[in-house]
Amino acid sequence: SPIARILKDAIRTIPDYPRPGIEFRDITTLLGDAWAFRRAVDELVQPWAGSKIDKVAGIEARGFILGGALAHQLSAGFVPVRKKGKLPSATVRIAYSLEYGLDEMEVHKDAVKPGEKVILVDDLVATGGTAEAAVKLLREIGADVIAAVFVIDLPALKGADKIRALGVPVHTLMSFD
Ligand code: IMP
Repeated sequence: SPIARILKDAIRTIPDYPRPGIEFRDITTLLGDAWAFRRAVDELVQPWAGSKIDKVAGIEARGFILGGALAHQLSAGFVPVRKKGKLPSATVRIAYSLEYGLDEMEVHKDAVKPGEKVILVDDLVATGGTAEAAVKLLREIGADVIAAVFVIDLPALKGADKIRALGVPVHTLMSFD
């Protein structure tokens, strides 16, 4: 559709970042375009317009920018999913694999009440390892993760399939081969 095309054109691609051979999909150009940012937020929440969503959980750091806007749009609360050591109160933590090595992420134990409906958001799903870890963390504190949404899917890496295999519907706005 024309809107999908305009949103895709608002993404900047940086060759060889952060390493040679990687094409980095940069959403800062979309965020800086008032129309594209608003429209992307509207499109991300569209399947849940009128549903009662309790919380939007955003993955540090680009998921925070989108998540705050999504939470406002859905009249939901916002939950930060952060790199380890950043959250001040009691947390649950999970280790997950990156392309090279391991990292850990955390969420506050009391960030959701048992059974609350949560939408997870990040800018991009690649292998799905980051979002999978976030879904597991949110479930550990009792969340009902009703969807995971991303601006960008890299379908060749099958990350969206990995999240769907957890029983979480996935909604993305565009794909890059
Ligand atoms: P995954 O865990 O392999 O799915 O990687 C997704 C995570 O890495 C997300 O938090 C993304 O923000 C980040 N990421 C990976 N590749 C890119 C990219 O090309 N642009 C922006 N973020 C990326």
